Amino acid sequence: MNIILLGPPAAGKGTQAERLEKKYGIKQISTGEILRAHVAKGDALGQKVKPILDAGKLVPDDVMIEMIAKRIDEADCKNGFILDGFPRTVAQAEALDDMLAKKGKRLDAVVQLVVDNDVLIDRLKTRIAESTEQRSDDNVETFKGRLVEYEKKTAPIIPYYDAKGMLKRVDGEKSIDEVTDEINKILSGSAPGKAPKVGGLGG
Ligand code: AMP
Repeated sequence: MNIILLGPPAAGKGTQAERLEKKYGIKQISTGEILRAHVAKGDALGQKVKPILDAGKLVPDDVMIEMIAKRIDEADCKNGFILDGFPRTVAQAEALDDMLAKKGKRLDAVVQLVVDNDVLIDRLKTRIAESTEQRSDDNVETFKGRLVEYEKKTAPIIPYYDAKGMLKRVDGEKSIDEVTDEINKILSGSAPGKAPKVGGLGG
């Protein structure tokens, strides 16, 4: 099973992806985490992307597309993957479609976590207050910039997947467990709005 979790920063994608990873034995791929690991190592990619992450901007599409193309080919993705933080632009979404088609794979669901901006900012403040490891892009000003970047560059992928009939919306302001339940319903095909199966014996 191959899934995309879509939503603004602090919508809960990472938390839900971890749960899906355990439940379905599919691999969470967080592009933000991969990038932060390069920054921590201080390698060439890390040095290149650090100022971009710190500014709350998006890393260029070609860098991200190459990263994902390699990552989903690794052995731990053989049962499937949950993309958390990718795609973030329409160009990334199109490139993902192309690469999956070439690899003979397909997406099973695109789940959008819908959360209001004020709630996101409150969550960020809680994360700053509670976290021991501070992320360099976790401050209110940069975070607001990341929300603008999301609206400008990432939100356009919502109609992209909607037009393909793949998008499922979940109220990300509900409790973590409720959101998990909603996602599981979608993935098991019992979500309201999913087309009923046609045919079969006796209806
Ligand atoms: P995240 O942990 O998903 O919020 O990502 C943290 C930061 O990594 C973002 O603010 C971007 O600077 C960068 N980033 C992560 N994923 C992508 C992506 N798919 N495209 C461009 N930049 C990304």
